[in-house]
Amino acid sequence: MTLIDGKAIAQEVRNEIRDEVAEWVAAGNEAPGLATVLVGDDPASAVYVGGKQKACAEVGMRGFDHRLAADTSEAEVRALLHQLNADPAVSGILLQLPPPPHIDGPKLTEEIAPGKDVDGLTPISTGLLHKNLPGLRPCTPLGCMELLKRHDVDLSGAEAVVVGRSDLVGKPISALLLQANATVTTAHSRTKDLAEVCRRADVLVAAVGVAHLIKGDWVKEGAVVIDVGMNRLDGKLTGDVEFEAAAERARLITPVPGGVGPMTIAMLLRNTLQAAKAAAAV
Ligand code: NAP
Repeated sequence: MTLIDGKAIAQEVRNEIRDEVAEWVAAGNEAPGLATVLVGDDPASAVYVGGKQKACAEVGMRGFDHRLAADTSEAEVRALLHQLNADPAVSGILLQLPPPPHIDGPKLTEEIAPGKDVDGLTPISTGLLHKNLPGLRPCTPLGCMELLKRHDVDLSGAEAVVVGRSDLVGKPISALLLQANATVTTAHSRTKDLAEVCRRADVLVAAVGVAHLIKGDWVKEGAVVIDVGMNRLDGKLTGDVEFEAAAERARLITPVPGGVGPMTIAMLLRNTLQAAKAAAAV
């Protein structure tokens, strides 16, 4: 078994992006800029946004860190998003979810211009993904694909099983695997005999949010296992897969933490650079 070291791969990607940004700027372009919008004072969200802004600075991008009071109205957030849409210094916009309850986060996200939708979550980005047209893809699914790519996993004709069908993770990963010519099964809470479905997977992606739901003996010998789950169990971060038992059968497997998690910010940076280049090309 080989461990997929997401931390090391994410660092590799970040170094590549830093070099690409430097080249882009040296060629006379403005550094790409990422605007983050955080409404309220949820401590976890503040940590996430801080991490994204720090990562931006490290690769030479500009960061625009907008922090709004918890009682900011939906109309005020919408106005800020429109202002950022119109600002040429801003290449990408990220509305940190979830906002306070009086704000409909997913609906407000739709206000972000498709070319700046670096989270890849607006209906337009979703449509572009499913039609395999150029556009910005959701970061965590992109991160999973990058891990597979860097380990030369041949997806063409492979049986891929994705457990989870959320708009954020499960559905877009299924779409990306399908585009890579895998034969994809998307399982969910109503799937009958999940164990048997998982056992046929050459590539098994767990994106559920239930600690250790996927048992070791559900993993086919020689399978590749990507564990997106991030769950707290006895105060520790753990995945959706029973790691030790699964690792005995898998050919490649991601740990939690240190697998998919670090890839998400790396892919956000890549999306921001892609958005900046696409904006300059029009
Ligand atoms: P979500 O929106 O809650 O979706 C969970 C999915 O799992 C749903 O489709 C649900 O099925 C399915 N499910 C729930 N219980 C199941 C069961 N017993 N058997 C089979 N399927 C079941 O969660 P999410 O946003 O996709 O996130 C999934 C996990 O990934 C979470 O642990 C989250 O923290 C983690 N995550 C990690 C990253 C990262 O950067 N590493 C990023 C995003 C999310 P139904 O549709 O039928 O309800």
